[in-house]
Amino acid sequence: MTSLDRPHLYIGGEWVPPASAETIPVENPATEQVLAHVPAGTAADVDRAVAAARAAFESWSVARDRAEVLDRLHTALASRAAEIARVVGLELGTPLKIAKAVQAGLPITVLRSYADLASRHSSAGEIGNSLIEREPIGVVGAITPWNYPLHQVVAKVAAALAAGCTVVLKPSELTPLVAFLLVDAAEEARVPAGVLNVVTGTGPVVGAAIAGHPAVDMVSFTGSTATGRAITHAAADRIAKVALELGGKSANVILEDADLVRAVKVGVGNAYLNSGQTCTAWTRMLVHESHYDEAVSLAAKTAGGYTVGDPFDESTRLGPLVSRAQRDRVLGFILRATARLVAGGADAPVPPLGHFVAPTVFADVDPDSELAQEEVFGPVLSIIPFSSDDEAVAIANNSKYGLAGGVWGSEERALAVARRMRTGQVDINGAAFNPLAPFGGYKQSGVGRELGEHGLAEFQQVKAIQR
Ligand code: NAD
Repeated sequence: MTSLDRPHLYIGGEWVPPASAETIPVENPATEQVLAHVPAGTAADVDRAVAAARAAFESWSVARDRAEVLDRLHTALASRAAEIARVVGLELGTPLKIAKAVQAGLPITVLRSYADLASRHSSAGEIGNSLIEREPIGVVGAITPWNYPLHQVVAKVAAALAAGCTVVLKPSELTPLVAFLLVDAAEEARVPAGVLNVVTGTGPVVGAAIAGHPAVDMVSFTGSTATGRAITHAAADRIAKVALELGGKSANVILEDADLVRAVKVGVGNAYLNSGQTCTAWTRMLVHESHYDEAVSLAAKTAGGYTVGDPFDESTRLGPLVSRAQRDRVLGFILRATARLVAGGADAPVPPLGHFVAPTVFADVDPDSELAQEEVFGPVLSIIPFSSDDEAVAIANNSKYGLAGGVWGSEERALAVARRMRTGQVDINGAAFNPLAPFGGYKQSGVGRELGEHGLAEFQQVKAIQR
Protein backbone atom coordinates (compact mmCIF):
# COMPACT_ATOMS: atom_id res chain seq x y z
CA MET A 1 0.00 0.00 0.00
CA THR A 2 1.16 3.53 -0.73
CA SER A 3 -0.66 6.71 0.27
CA LEU A 4 -1.94 7.14 -3.30
CA ASP A 5 -3.49 3.65 -3.46
CA ARG A 6 -7.18 3.57 -4.28
CA PRO A 7 -8.50 0.08 -3.50
CA HIS A 8 -12.20 0.83 -4.08
CA LEU A 9 -14.56 1.86 -6.85
CA TYR A 10 -17.10 4.66 -6.41
CA ILE A 11 -20.60 3.39 -7.14
CA GLY A 12 -23.97 4.67 -5.93
CA GLY A 13 -22.36 7.25 -3.64
CA GLU A 14 -20.20 4.69 -1.83
CA TRP A 15 -16.69 3.32 -1.95
CA VAL A 16 -17.24 -0.32 -2.81
CA PRO A 17 -14.84 -3.24 -3.20
CA PRO A 18 -14.43 -4.28 -6.85
CA ALA A 19 -15.78 -7.64 -8.02
CA SER A 20 -12.26 -8.92 -8.68
CA ALA A 21 -9.20 -8.58 -6.44
CA GLU A 22 -6.99 -7.83 -9.44
CA THR A 23 -5.30 -4.42 -9.49
CA ILE A 24 -3.50 -2.19 -12.01
CA PRO A 25 -0.17 -0.61 -11.06
CA VAL A 26 0.19 3.11 -11.83
CA GLU A 27 3.72 4.13 -12.78
CA ASN A 28 5.58 7.40 -12.36
CA PRO A 29 6.96 7.86 -15.90
CA ALA A 30 9.84 10.07 -14.71
CA THR A 31 11.20 7.51 -12.21
CA GLU A 32 9.70 4.23 -13.50
CA GLN A 33 8.57 3.50 -9.92
CA VAL A 34 5.10 2.17 -9.14
CA LEU A 35 3.14 4.97 -7.49
CA ALA A 36 -0.07 3.22 -6.53
CA HIS A 37 -2.56 0.53 -7.47
CA VAL A 38 -6.18 0.89 -8.57
CA PRO A 39 -8.83 -1.79 -9.10
CA ALA A 40 -8.92 -3.67 -12.38
CA GLY A 41 -12.68 -3.36 -12.74
CA THR A 42 -14.79 -5.89 -14.61
CA ALA A 43 -18.07 -6.05 -16.55
CA ALA A 44 -19.80 -6.93 -13.25
CA ASP A 45 -18.60 -3.62 -11.75
CA VAL A 46 -19.84 -1.77 -14.83
CA ASP A 47 -23.28 -3.42 -14.47
CA ARG A 48 -23.47 -2.24 -10.91
CA ALA A 49 -22.36 1.30 -11.77
CA VAL A 50 -24.81 1.58 -14.67
CA ALA A 51 -27.64 0.38 -12.42
CA ALA A 52 -26.70 3.06 -9.86
CA ALA A 53 -26.57 5.74 -12.57
CA ARG A 54 -29.92 4.59 -13.98
CA ALA A 55 -31.53 4.68 -10.52
CA ALA A 56 -30.20 8.19 -9.86
CA PHE A 57 -31.28 9.55 -13.27
CA GLU A 58 -34.95 9.92 -12.46
CA SER A 59 -34.45 12.51 -9.74
CA TRP A 60 -31.24 14.16 -11.08
CA SER A 61 -32.80 14.73 -14.52
CA VAL A 62 -35.42 16.98 -12.95
CA ALA A 63 -33.42 18.29 -9.98
CA ARG A 64 -33.79 22.02 -9.53
CA ASP A 65 -30.57 22.40 -7.56
CA ARG A 66 -28.11 21.16 -10.21
CA ALA A 67 -26.45 24.57 -10.45
CA GLU A 68 -25.90 24.70 -6.69
CA VAL A 69 -24.52 21.16 -6.62
CA LEU A 70 -22.10 22.00 -9.45
CA ASP A 71 -21.18 25.23 -7.70
CA ARG A 72 -20.26 23.24 -4.58
CA LEU A 73 -18.38 20.73 -6.72
CA HIS A 74 -16.39 23.58 -8.27
CA THR A 75 -15.47 24.92 -4.82
CA ALA A 76 -14.41 21.47 -3.64
CA LEU A 77 -12.33 20.81 -6.76
CA ALA A 78 -10.72 24.27 -6.73
CA SER A 79 -9.60 23.70 -3.14
CA ARG A 80 -7.66 20.68 -4.41
CA ALA A 81 -5.78 22.56 -7.17
CA ALA A 82 -2.32 22.01 -5.70
CA GLU A 83 -2.99 18.31 -5.10
CA ILE A 84 -4.33 17.91 -8.65
CA ALA A 85 -1.14 19.42 -10.11
CA ARG A 86 1.01 17.19 -7.90
CA VAL A 87 -0.87 13.99 -8.79
CA VAL A 88 -0.79 14.73 -12.53
CA GLY A 89 2.91 15.56 -12.19
CA LEU A 90 3.42 12.15 -10.59
CA GLU A 91 1.28 9.93 -12.81
CA LEU A 92 1.81 11.71 -16.15
CA GLY A 93 5.04 13.65 -15.67
CA THR A 94 3.69 17.08 -16.66
CA PRO A 95 6.14 19.81 -15.50
CA LEU A 96 4.75 21.48 -12.39
CA LYS A 97 4.17 24.92 -13.92
CA ILE A 98 2.06 23.49 -16.75
CA ALA A 99 0.43 21.02 -14.39
CA LYS A 100 -0.78 23.93 -12.24
CA ALA A 101 -1.89 26.15 -15.11
CA VAL A 102 -3.37 23.59 -17.48
CA GLN A 103 -3.85 20.20 -15.83
CA ALA A 104 -5.44 21.75 -12.72
CA GLY A 105 -6.43 25.24 -13.87
CA LEU A 106 -8.32 24.28 -17.02
CA PRO A 107 -10.71 21.68 -15.52
CA ILE A 108 -11.50 24.01 -12.62
CA THR A 109 -12.37 26.75 -15.15
CA VAL A 110 -14.47 24.34 -17.20
CA LEU A 111 -16.35 23.13 -14.13
CA ARG A 112 -17.07 26.77 -13.23
CA SER A 113 -18.51 27.37 -16.69
CA TYR A 114 -20.87 24.40 -16.35
CA ALA A 115 -22.00 25.46 -12.87
CA ASP A 116 -23.00 28.74 -14.57
CA LEU A 117 -24.62 27.06 -17.59
CA ALA A 118 -26.61 24.68 -15.35
CA SER A 119 -28.49 27.62 -13.92
CA ARG A 120 -29.98 28.46 -17.31
CA HIS A 121 -33.51 27.40 -18.12
CA SER A 122 -33.89 24.28 -20.28
CA SER A 123 -36.41 25.77 -22.69
CA ALA A 124 -35.01 26.28 -26.15
CA GLY A 125 -37.85 28.57 -27.21
CA GLU A 126 -40.81 28.29 -29.56
CA ILE A 127 -41.19 27.66 -33.28
CA GLY A 128 -44.71 28.38 -34.57
CA ASN A 129 -47.07 26.22 -32.49
CA SER A 130 -44.20 24.15 -31.07
CA LEU A 131 -42.65 24.46 -27.68
CA ILE A 132 -38.99 23.37 -27.93
CA GLU A 133 -37.50 21.80 -24.83
CA ARG A 134 -34.14 20.32 -24.01
CA GLU A 135 -33.97 17.16 -21.92
CA PRO A 136 -31.03 15.16 -20.58
CA ILE A 137 -30.14 12.20 -22.76
CA GLY A 138 -29.87 9.72 -19.87
CA VAL A 139 -27.03 7.59 -18.53
CA VAL A 140 -23.70 8.61 -20.01
CA GLY A 141 -20.63 6.39 -20.26
CA ALA A 142 -17.50 8.56 -20.20
CA ILE A 143 -14.20 7.02 -21.32
CA THR A 144 -11.11 9.21 -21.15
CA PRO A 145 -7.38 9.15 -22.04
CA TRP A 146 -4.25 9.99 -20.08
CA ASN A 147 -2.86 13.17 -21.63
CA TYR A 148 -5.09 15.75 -19.90
CA PRO A 149 -6.47 13.30 -17.37
CA LEU A 150 -8.65 15.64 -15.31
CA HIS A 151 -9.60 18.12 -18.03
CA GLN A 152 -10.95 15.37 -20.29
CA VAL A 153 -12.92 13.90 -17.38
CA VAL A 154 -14.39 17.26 -16.33
CA ALA A 155 -15.25 18.30 -19.90
CA LYS A 156 -17.57 15.28 -20.01
CA VAL A 157 -18.73 14.91 -16.41
CA ALA A 158 -19.48 18.59 -15.75
CA ALA A 159 -21.39 19.02 -19.03
CA ALA A 160 -23.33 15.78 -18.54
CA LEU A 161 -24.24 16.62 -14.94
CA ALA A 162 -25.24 20.18 -15.88
CA ALA A 163 -27.54 18.74 -18.55
CA GLY A 164 -29.16 16.42 -15.98
CA CYS A 165 -27.47 13.18 -17.05
CA THR A 166 -25.85 10.68 -14.70
CA VAL A 167 -22.41 9.25 -15.46
CA VAL A 168 -20.31 6.11 -15.34
CA LEU A 169 -16.70 7.21 -15.79
CA LYS A 170 -13.74 5.09 -16.78
CA PRO A 171 -10.51 7.10 -16.60
CA SER A 172 -7.37 5.95 -18.40
CA GLU A 173 -5.64 3.07 -16.64
CA LEU A 174 -2.34 4.96 -17.08
CA THR A 175 -3.48 8.04 -15.13
CA PRO A 176 -6.48 7.05 -12.99
CA LEU A 177 -5.41 8.76 -9.74
CA VAL A 178 -6.48 12.32 -10.48
CA ALA A 179 -10.04 11.18 -11.32
CA PHE A 180 -10.34 10.01 -7.72
CA LEU A 181 -9.70 13.59 -6.59
CA LEU A 182 -12.84 14.58 -8.52
CA VAL A 183 -14.72 11.86 -6.64
CA ASP A 184 -13.37 13.15 -3.32
CA ALA A 185 -14.63 16.59 -4.34
CA ALA A 186 -18.02 15.14 -5.36
CA GLU A 187 -18.38 13.50 -1.94
CA GLU A 188 -17.51 16.74 -0.20
CA ALA A 189 -19.95 18.64 -2.44
CA ARG A 190 -22.74 16.14 -1.64
CA VAL A 191 -23.34 15.24 -5.28
CA PRO A 192 -26.32 12.84 -4.93
CA ALA A 193 -25.58 9.11 -4.82
CA GLY A 194 -25.34 7.47 -8.25
CA VAL A 195 -25.00 10.71 -10.20
CA LEU A 196 -21.25 10.14 -10.67
CA ASN A 197 -19.82 6.62 -10.62
CA VAL A 198 -16.22 5.62 -11.32
CA VAL A 199 -14.98 2.22 -12.46
CA THR A 200 -11.24 1.98 -13.12
CA GLY A 201 -9.86 -0.71 -15.38
CA THR A 202 -8.55 -1.47 -18.83
CA GLY A 203 -10.12 -0.38 -22.11
CA PRO A 204 -10.89 -3.82 -23.51
CA VAL A 205 -12.62 -4.88 -20.24
CA VAL A 206 -14.24 -1.86 -18.54
CA GLY A 207 -14.29 0.50 -21.55
CA ALA A 208 -15.80 -2.12 -23.83
CA ALA A 209 -18.39 -3.07 -21.18
CA ILE A 210 -19.49 0.57 -20.92
CA ALA A 211 -19.58 1.12 -24.69
CA GLY A 212 -21.65 -2.02 -25.26
CA HIS A 213 -23.93 -1.71 -22.23
CA PRO A 214 -27.65 -1.81 -23.15
CA ALA A 215 -28.58 0.70 -20.42
CA VAL A 216 -25.97 3.33 -21.38
CA ASP A 217 -27.75 5.94 -23.52
CA MET A 218 -24.68 7.78 -24.75
CA VAL A 219 -20.95 7.15 -24.85
CA SER A 220 -18.67 10.17 -24.69
CA PHE A 221 -15.13 9.19 -25.58
CA THR A 222 -11.78 10.92 -25.88
CA GLY A 223 -8.81 8.96 -27.12
CA SER A 224 -7.33 7.43 -30.22
CA THR A 225 -9.16 7.19 -33.53
CA ALA A 226 -8.81 3.39 -33.51
CA THR A 227 -10.55 3.06 -30.14
CA GLY A 228 -13.17 5.62 -31.21
CA ARG A 229 -13.99 3.37 -34.13
CA ALA A 230 -14.35 0.31 -31.84
CA ILE A 231 -16.63 2.25 -29.49
CA THR A 232 -18.79 3.44 -32.36
CA HIS A 233 -19.23 -0.16 -33.53
CA ALA A 234 -20.14 -1.28 -30.00
CA ALA A 235 -22.73 1.50 -29.61
CA ALA A 236 -24.19 1.02 -33.10
CA ASP A 237 -26.05 -2.18 -32.23
CA ARG A 238 -28.40 -0.31 -29.91
CA ILE A 239 -28.21 3.04 -31.81
CA ALA A 240 -26.71 4.75 -28.76
CA LYS A 241 -25.39 8.25 -29.29
CA VAL A 242 -21.62 8.58 -29.49
CA ALA A 243 -19.49 11.72 -29.07
CA LEU A 244 -15.85 11.32 -30.02
CA GLU A 245 -12.80 13.52 -29.47
CA LEU A 246 -10.01 11.79 -31.33
CA GLY A 247 -6.53 12.38 -32.71
CA GLY A 248 -5.06 15.26 -34.67
CA LYS A 249 -2.23 16.32 -36.94
CA SER A 250 -2.64 20.06 -36.83
CA ALA A 251 -0.93 22.55 -39.12
CA ASN A 252 0.56 25.84 -37.99
CA VAL A 253 0.61 28.02 -41.10
CA ILE A 254 3.18 30.85 -41.08
CA LEU A 255 2.37 33.23 -43.94
CA GLU A 256 4.75 35.59 -45.69
CA ASP A 257 3.62 38.58 -43.61
CA ALA A 258 3.76 36.83 -40.22
CA ASP A 259 5.75 37.92 -37.17
CA LEU A 260 8.19 35.09 -37.81
CA VAL A 261 10.04 34.99 -34.51
CA ARG A 262 6.86 34.86 -32.44
CA ALA A 263 5.16 32.45 -34.82
CA VAL A 264 8.04 29.97 -34.61
CA LYS A 265 8.60 30.25 -30.85
CA VAL A 266 4.92 29.92 -29.97
CA GLY A 267 4.58 27.21 -32.63
CA VAL A 268 7.38 25.12 -31.11
CA GLY A 269 5.88 25.59 -27.63
CA ASN A 270 2.50 24.45 -28.87
CA ALA A 271 3.95 21.37 -30.57
CA TYR A 272 5.82 20.37 -27.40
CA LEU A 273 3.08 21.15 -24.86
CA ASN A 274 2.76 18.23 -22.45
CA SER A 275 5.75 16.57 -24.20
CA GLY A 276 3.79 16.70 -27.46
CA GLN A 277 1.05 14.53 -25.96
CA THR A 278 -1.65 16.99 -26.93
CA CYS A 279 -4.36 16.15 -29.44
CA THR A 280 -4.42 19.72 -30.79
CA ALA A 281 -0.59 20.02 -31.02
CA TRP A 282 0.62 21.97 -34.06
CA THR A 283 2.90 19.15 -35.18
CA ARG A 284 3.23 20.40 -38.76
CA MET A 285 4.81 23.82 -39.13
CA LEU A 286 4.10 25.18 -42.63
CA VAL A 287 6.38 28.09 -43.53
CA HIS A 288 6.40 30.39 -46.55
CA GLU A 289 9.50 29.74 -48.64
CA SER A 290 10.77 33.31 -48.18
CA HIS A 291 11.29 32.67 -44.43
CA TYR A 292 11.86 28.95 -44.54
CA ASP A 293 15.59 28.71 -43.73
CA GLU A 294 15.29 31.26 -40.95
CA ALA A 295 12.30 29.42 -39.46
CA VAL A 296 14.14 26.10 -39.53
CA SER A 297 17.17 27.45 -37.68
CA LEU A 298 14.99 29.33 -35.20
CA ALA A 299 12.88 26.24 -34.48
CA ALA A 300 16.01 24.11 -34.00
CA LYS A 301 17.48 26.69 -31.64
CA THR A 302 14.22 27.00 -29.68
CA ALA A 303 13.93 23.21 -29.34
CA GLY A 304 17.56 22.97 -28.20
CA GLY A 305 16.79 25.46 -25.42
CA TYR A 306 14.17 23.23 -23.77
CA THR A 307 15.26 21.68 -20.46
CA VAL A 308 14.24 18.03 -20.31
CA GLY A 309 13.95 16.27 -16.97
CA ASP A 310 12.30 16.01 -13.56
CA PRO A 311 8.75 17.43 -13.78
CA PHE A 312 9.05 18.76 -10.23
CA ASP A 313 12.16 20.82 -11.03
CA GLU A 314 11.12 24.45 -11.68
CA SER A 315 13.45 24.77 -14.69
CA THR A 316 12.00 21.76 -16.57
CA ARG A 317 10.08 22.55 -19.77
CA LEU A 318 9.70 18.99 -21.05
CA GLY A 319 8.79 15.98 -18.92
CA PRO A 320 8.78 12.31 -19.91
CA LEU A 321 6.27 10.55 -22.13
CA VAL A 322 3.55 8.68 -20.26
CA SER A 323 4.91 5.16 -20.67
CA ARG A 324 7.70 3.05 -22.10
CA ALA A 325 5.35 1.91 -24.87
CA GLN A 326 4.60 5.51 -25.82
CA ARG A 327 8.30 6.42 -25.81
CA ASP A 328 9.16 3.44 -28.00
CA ARG A 329 6.37 4.35 -30.39
CA VAL A 330 7.65 7.93 -30.70
CA LEU A 331 11.25 6.77 -31.16
CA GLY A 332 9.98 4.47 -33.93
CA PHE A 333 8.60 7.48 -35.84
CA ILE A 334 11.90 9.33 -35.38
CA LEU A 335 14.00 6.37 -36.53
CA ARG A 336 11.83 5.72 -39.61
CA ALA A 337 11.76 9.39 -40.66
CA THR A 338 13.56 10.21 -43.89
CA ALA A 339 13.42 14.02 -43.48
CA ARG A 340 16.34 16.26 -42.43
CA LEU A 341 16.92 16.10 -38.65
CA VAL A 342 17.81 19.56 -37.31
CA ALA A 343 17.32 19.11 -33.53
CA GLY A 344 17.08 16.25 -31.04
CA GLY A 345 16.58 12.77 -32.47
CA ALA A 346 16.68 9.25 -31.06
CA ASP A 347 20.33 9.51 -29.96
CA ALA A 348 20.17 12.95 -28.32
CA PRO A 349 20.98 12.85 -24.59
CA VAL A 350 18.07 12.50 -22.15
CA PRO A 351 17.92 11.44 -18.48
CA PRO A 352 18.75 7.72 -18.24
CA LEU A 353 15.78 6.84 -16.05
CA GLY A 354 12.24 7.68 -17.17
CA HIS A 355 10.53 7.66 -20.57
CA PHE A 356 12.17 10.75 -22.05
CA VAL A 357 12.49 11.78 -25.70
CA ALA A 358 14.57 14.82 -26.68
CA PRO A 359 12.75 17.75 -28.33
CA THR A 360 13.09 16.90 -32.00
CA VAL A 361 12.70 18.94 -35.20
CA PHE A 362 12.66 17.63 -38.78
CA ALA A 363 12.87 19.97 -41.79
CA ASP A 364 11.96 19.31 -45.45
CA VAL A 365 9.26 16.87 -44.38
CA ASP A 366 7.34 15.34 -47.29
CA PRO A 367 3.64 16.23 -46.66
CA ASP A 368 2.66 12.68 -47.66
CA SER A 369 5.21 10.92 -45.45
CA GLU A 370 4.39 9.00 -42.28
CA LEU A 371 5.82 11.81 -40.15
CA ALA A 372 3.44 14.36 -41.68
CA GLN A 373 0.40 12.08 -41.77
CA GLU A 374 0.41 10.07 -38.53
CA GLU A 375 -0.15 11.37 -35.02
CA VAL A 376 3.23 10.93 -33.27
CA PHE A 377 2.12 12.12 -29.81
CA GLY A 378 5.61 13.08 -28.70
CA PRO A 379 7.93 16.13 -28.90
CA VAL A 380 8.47 15.90 -32.64
CA LEU A 381 7.94 18.87 -34.98
CA SER A 382 7.83 18.60 -38.79
CA ILE A 383 8.60 21.69 -40.89
CA ILE A 384 7.26 21.94 -44.45
CA PRO A 385 7.75 24.81 -46.94
CA PHE A 386 5.02 26.31 -49.18
CA SER A 387 5.00 28.98 -51.88
CA SER A 388 1.42 30.39 -51.84
CA ASP A 389 -1.59 30.64 -49.53
CA ASP A 390 -3.41 28.13 -51.75
CA GLU A 391 -0.60 25.64 -51.37
CA ALA A 392 -0.51 26.18 -47.59
CA VAL A 393 -4.25 25.43 -47.36
CA ALA A 394 -3.84 22.33 -49.55
CA ILE A 395 -1.01 20.96 -47.37
CA ALA A 396 -2.85 21.82 -44.14
CA ASN A 397 -5.95 19.96 -45.39
CA ASN A 398 -3.93 16.98 -46.65
CA SER A 399 -4.73 14.98 -43.52
CA LYS A 400 -7.25 12.40 -42.37
CA TYR A 401 -7.53 14.52 -39.21
CA GLY A 402 -9.10 17.96 -38.70
CA LEU A 403 -8.91 19.01 -35.07
CA ALA A 404 -7.02 22.29 -34.72
CA GLY A 405 -4.52 24.62 -36.36
CA GLY A 406 -2.83 27.99 -36.31
CA VAL A 407 -2.34 30.77 -38.84
CA TRP A 408 0.10 33.68 -38.54
CA GLY A 409 -0.04 36.77 -40.73
CA SER A 410 -1.99 39.97 -41.26
CA GLU A 411 -5.46 39.62 -39.77
CA GLU A 412 -7.53 39.58 -42.96
CA ARG A 413 -5.26 37.22 -44.86
CA ALA A 414 -4.91 34.88 -41.85
CA LEU A 415 -8.69 34.83 -41.39
CA ALA A 416 -9.18 33.89 -45.04
CA VAL A 417 -6.75 30.97 -44.62
CA ALA A 418 -8.33 29.95 -41.27
CA ARG A 419 -11.76 29.77 -42.92
CA ARG A 420 -10.45 27.38 -45.57
CA MET A 421 -8.87 24.99 -43.06
CA ARG A 422 -10.96 21.85 -42.50
CA THR A 423 -10.59 21.76 -38.71
CA GLY A 424 -12.76 22.41 -35.68
CA GLN A 425 -10.48 25.08 -34.18
CA VAL A 426 -8.02 27.59 -35.64
CA ASP A 427 -6.02 30.18 -33.68
CA ILE A 428 -4.87 33.34 -35.44
CA ASN A 429 -1.57 34.88 -34.34
CA GLY A 430 -1.39 32.82 -31.15
CA ALA A 431 -4.81 33.82 -29.77
CA ALA A 432 -5.66 32.35 -26.36
CA PHE A 433 -7.54 29.08 -25.87
CA ASN A 434 -11.19 29.81 -25.17
CA PRO A 435 -12.72 27.26 -22.76
CA LEU A 436 -16.25 28.35 -23.71
CA ALA A 437 -15.81 27.87 -27.46
CA PRO A 438 -16.89 24.59 -29.10
CA PHE A 439 -14.05 22.07 -29.21
CA GLY A 440 -14.01 19.07 -31.53
CA GLY A 441 -12.90 17.64 -34.80
CA TYR A 442 -13.67 17.37 -38.49
CA LYS A 443 -12.95 14.15 -40.41
CA GLN A 444 -11.32 11.39 -38.31
CA SER A 445 -10.72 13.79 -35.41
CA GLY A 446 -14.17 13.14 -34.09
CA VAL A 447 -17.90 13.65 -33.88
CA GLY A 448 -19.62 16.24 -31.69
CA ARG A 449 -18.31 19.13 -29.64
CA GLU A 450 -17.22 19.68 -26.06
CA LEU A 451 -17.04 22.78 -23.82
CA GLY A 452 -19.43 25.67 -23.32
CA GLU A 453 -23.00 25.58 -24.57
CA HIS A 454 -22.17 23.31 -27.49
CA GLY A 455 -20.71 20.77 -25.07
CA LEU A 456 -23.83 20.92 -22.92
CA ALA A 457 -26.08 20.42 -25.95
CA GLU A 458 -24.29 17.12 -26.76
CA PHE A 459 -25.85 15.62 -23.62
CA GLN A 460 -29.38 16.83 -24.39
CA GLN A 461 -32.27 15.62 -26.49
CA VAL A 462 -34.49 18.20 -28.14
CA LYS A 463 -38.25 17.78 -27.85
CA ALA A 464 -40.96 19.63 -29.77
CA ILE A 465 -44.37 19.87 -28.10
CA GLN A 466 -47.12 21.12 -30.42
CA ARG A 467 -49.93 23.13 -28.94
P1 NAD B 1 -6.80 5.15 -26.23
O1 NAD B 1 -7.80 5.18 -27.31
O2 NAD B 1 -5.85 4.04 -26.20
O3 NAD B 1 -7.50 5.13 -24.80
C1 NAD B 1 -8.47 6.08 -24.41
C2 NAD B 1 -9.41 5.43 -23.42
O4 NAD B 1 -10.13 4.40 -24.09
C3 NAD B 1 -8.72 4.78 -22.23
O5 NAD B 1 -9.50 4.98 -21.07
C4 NAD B 1 -8.70 3.32 -22.62
O6 NAD B 1 -8.64 2.45 -21.51
C5 NAD B 1 -10.01 3.19 -23.36
N1 NAD B 1 -10.10 2.07 -24.29
C6 NAD B 1 -9.07 1.44 -24.94
N2 NAD B 1 -9.56 0.43 -25.69
C7 NAD B 1 -10.90 0.44 -25.53
C8 NAD B 1 -11.96 -0.36 -26.08
N3 NAD B 1 -11.74 -1.35 -26.93
N4 NAD B 1 -13.22 -0.06 -25.71
C9 NAD B 1 -13.48 0.95 -24.86
N5 NAD B 1 -12.53 1.72 -24.31
C10 NAD B 1 -11.25 1.47 -24.64
O7 NAD B 1 -6.10 6.55 -26.27
P2 NAD B 1 -4.93 7.06 -25.35
O8 NAD B 1 -3.68 6.43 -25.85
O9 NAD B 1 -5.29 6.93 -23.93
O10 NAD B 1 -4.94 8.61 -25.68
C11 NAD B 1 -4.22 9.20 -26.70
C12 NAD B 1 -5.14 9.54 -27.85
O11 NAD B 1 -6.20 10.40 -27.43
C13 NAD B 1 -4.43 10.29 -28.95
O12 NAD B 1 -4.73 9.75 -30.19
C14 NAD B 1 -4.98 11.71 -28.84
O13 NAD B 1 -4.95 12.48 -29.96
C15 NAD B 1 -6.37 11.45 -28.38
N6 NAD B 1 -6.90 12.64 -27.73
C16 NAD B 1 -7.87 13.36 -28.35
C17 NAD B 1 -8.38 14.50 -27.76
C18 NAD B 1 -9.45 15.31 -28.41
O14 NAD B 1 -10.11 16.05 -27.72
N7 NAD B 1 -9.67 15.23 -29.69
C19 NAD B 1 -7.91 14.91 -26.54
C20 NAD B 1 -6.91 14.17 -25.94
C21 NAD B 1 -6.44 13.02 -26.54
